[in-house]
Amino acid sequence: MYTLKNAIDGKLVASASDRMADVFNPATGEKIGQVPLSTNDEIDRAVENAKQAQPAWGDMPPARRARVMFKFLDLLNRNIDDLAREISREQGKTHEDAVGECTRGIEVVEYACGIPQMLKGEYSRNVGPAIDTFSTRQPLGVVGGITPFNFPAMVPMWMYPMAIACGNSFVLKPSERDPSASMMAWELFREAGLPDGIFNIVHGDKSAVDRILDHPDIKAVSFVGSTPIAEYVYTRGTAAGKRMQALGGAKNHMIIMPDADMDQAANALMGAGYGAAGERCMAISVAVPIGEETADKLVAALKPKVESLRIGPSTDENADMGPLITKAHQEKVLDYIDQGEKAGAELVVDGRGFSLQGYENGFFVGGTLFDRVTEDMSIYRDEIFGPVLSVVRKNTFAEAVDLIHGHEYANGTAIFTRDGDAARDFADRIEVGMVGINVPIPVPVAYHSFGGWKRSSFGANGIYGPEAVNFYTRLKTITTRWPTGVKEGSVFAFPS
Ligand code: NAD
Repeated sequence: MYTLKNAIDGKLVASASDRMADVFNPATGEKIGQVPLSTNDEIDRAVENAKQAQPAWGDMPPARRARVMFKFLDLLNRNIDDLAREISREQGKTHEDAVGECTRGIEVVEYACGIPQMLKGEYSRNVGPAIDTFSTRQPLGVVGGITPFNFPAMVPMWMYPMAIACGNSFVLKPSERDPSASMMAWELFREAGLPDGIFNIVHGDKSAVDRILDHPDIKAVSFVGSTPIAEYVYTRGTAAGKRMQALGGAKNHMIIMPDADMDQAANALMGAGYGAAGERCMAISVAVPIGEETADKLVAALKPKVESLRIGPSTDENADMGPLITKAHQEKVLDYIDQGEKAGAELVVDGRGFSLQGYENGFFVGGTLFDRVTEDMSIYRDEIFGPVLSVVRKNTFAEAVDLIHGHEYANGTAIFTRDGDAARDFADRIEVGMVGINVPIPVPVAYHSFGGWKRSSFGANGIYGPEAVNFYTRLKTITTRWPTGVKEGSVFAFPS
């Protein structure tokens, strides 16, 4: 049993809070640690230290900040297996999946190493007689990050590497369910030579989040989590005058056209629907085959694959997926399966009875497949965030597009087809932020930005990539006149 500490001003500090949250091993159901739910004073202290440290870091030449990022990158790559094990221990995902998560987070650090190029600004000579204009992007000061449980290393890395490379200091509030991966990354960043106070971690729950949102010295906050909390965080943060981005939940549809390669589509659906036990914001949770024949073929291809999913703890090298994050979440997912059955969906594979010898108390749910799901059912409308795939049958491509447009979420989507016209039309018209053409999980690489539309994202900016530079800096535009020897009287008309 371990008790986590906060990371403030380059040191690990035990919390004085009398409130703690339990951390579990999801595969065994055992309590393995506890995390403090920090007090307002502790958050204020982290922010104050971050505020003191930031000016010197922000003034440092970007190339020198990049050198620290290069060292951090090297340390992450050398410790990737340990970091992945740290993720799996508290989150439950398979080791291979955790390594994949680390790799995608590390890509953002690689991108952040190029920060001098990104901060170059623009210059226009002779905007008027002997007048030049240049623009520069300056750091905001102290910025905050609040992150979910499902990617305990990658999602924080969507935020702090770019924020810090831009010259800000950062206060992270990781998920209280699996906070240790961020602590390990913090140690590595410190070892890379990051000055004290630039990257701080405070643990906590709603109370810590509220303090971060209200704190006058935090200038911007990035949030990733569920939609109701994202909306709340966005509203409260903007009311407090902060720059905000809040990414929320999802219900991602994949259209399977009659001409699609059925093997390829079914295999893609297996990985995208059941990988990480469905606990991904870019998981495909709705398959939309076009036409009855396509639907019958798809369900026939999926059924044996779902039945033979290999489910186990992260230490099982052969496992395709692991347990869910908590007992409460396991119960919620099981309840959704009950609801789907009661609402009249056809339960093709039922994951409710799943049990694993030696891991009877783990938070496992077996792979579940529903066919003939309709728009009014809760299993269609809600984000279940578990290994439950719904098939919604549609007769035409146009009906499938309407279905997607009718959903409140618009994070990711995909189409599987050999028809270039349909694919191009889909990419053009679909009102969803990230689109895959024969690619089931179109998470953009680190040099493009990530972001959903509609109720999957609140705020104007995408996360990581070029949009992160805009979000974590503010633009200043300077107009200069040299030489000053040009004589001019007072001008009362607007300068032109
Ligand atoms: P969550 O919304 O429960 O928690 C996210 C963060 O908010 C945590 O740090 C948590 O401590 C904090 N929080 C929880 N309740 C709060 C409250 N009432 N007030 C203020 N803060 C609160 O999300 P989760 O269960 O950890 O993560 C899963 C969700 O995250 C899913 O909905 C998933 O789709 C979403 N997600 C979205 C993306 C994306 O990029 N859009 C990526 C990953 C996860």
